[in-house]
Amino acid sequence: MAARNLNITPIGEWGLFRLPPRPCVIAGPCSAETEEQMLSTAMELRAFGINVFRAGIWKPRTHPGSFEGLGTAGLKLLKKVKEETGMHVCTEVAGAKHVYECLKYGVDLLWIGARTTANPFLMQEIADALQDTDVPVLVKNPVNPDIDLWIGALERLNRAGVTKIGVIHRGFSTSAPIPYRNDPGWRIAIELRTMYPDLPFFADPSHMAGDRKYLVELSQRAMDLGLEGLMIESHCDPSCALSDAKQQLTPKDLQKLLEEGITVRDSSSDDASYNEGLHQLRAKIDVLDENLINTFASRMKVSREIGLYKKEHNVAILQASRWDEVLERVKEEGRKAGLSDEFVVKVFTALHEESIRAQDEILSDRSK
Ligand code: PEP
Ligand code: MN
Repeated sequence: MAARNLNITPIGEWGLFRLPPRPCVIAGPCSAETEEQMLSTAMELRAFGINVFRAGIWKPRTHPGSFEGLGTAGLKLLKKVKEETGMHVCTEVAGAKHVYECLKYGVDLLWIGARTTANPFLMQEIADALQDTDVPVLVKNPVNPDIDLWIGALERLNRAGVTKIGVIHRGFSTSAPIPYRNDPGWRIAIELRTMYPDLPFFADPSHMAGDRKYLVELSQRAMDLGLEGLMIESHCDPSCALSDAKQQLTPKDLQKLLEEGITVRDSSSDDASYNEGLHQLRAKIDVLDENLINTFASRMKVSREIGLYKKEHNVAILQASRWDEVLERVKEEGRKAGLSDEFVVKVFTALHEESIRAQDEILSDRSK
């Protein structure tokens, strides 16, 4: 798909982040809870150089009756953090009213939550409310893996004159049995990155992971893909957090993650920048390889289902005409995608042999 045009102000001109070095970090609790929690978390973060503080004020919770945020009282706390620590502050907006309130309280950066990005009506309302303002906006990916919906949200902001725009990749809802809360779906991040190499790009490993034990590996992957920033939830006492307790880190643990947990390859020297470029390309290959493995596994699963079906209906495993048909079709698809017949035949012959082997196993298993 050809990239639609976006007008993007470089992140270095937003007045919030210095780049290099990577990563630009946004940290703070999932939700603003109390003055003490906000100030003590912010002070601890400030002490090791974090200067953009996050806290949710209006919380989009799955179930009613969960803690839904402090609302405007939380904005007063954000203002206090700003005054007492000198940090820049940011929060999530999900509608025009939130935008007006944030502008009134001097919030420095807004983000759009995943559930809101997925809703064009709300996105338009937010964009209209931001008309003629200068506040930067980060747009999280929609909950569903729809890159166009994500780009559409950015376009709506752009049309309202907002050019300080960036994105936050936080993964996608899934029913697949994965260890994380959300499917990282890195290939979509790579696709967006390739379409808009100048679009400031953050990852939110906290909401991707759902559990603090995965934060290092996910943050590392974000850095390996060359993303500019990380948004990570941090709470002075995660065990008492009113939302997302399991995924929040103490400021001390966040410092450890940033200083010892992850390796960020950045350098201005030509040679090192070549190495970094190569490293980032290899990280993309790693993601694509993971996708290939998953696709192979899904194909094998269907092959086994076919094997069982054939067994139930007393049909032989190998139908040569079907295989010829598959081969002709994939060769044709391969040609369209610029792949040689020789390569396609090799890969699919290997896949076919493995399917036959698996189906053979099913057929010879008399217990099934
Ligand atoms: C959040 O950042 O606190 C949040 C609710 O995130 P998401 O929109 O990614 O679920
Ligand atoms: Mn959260």
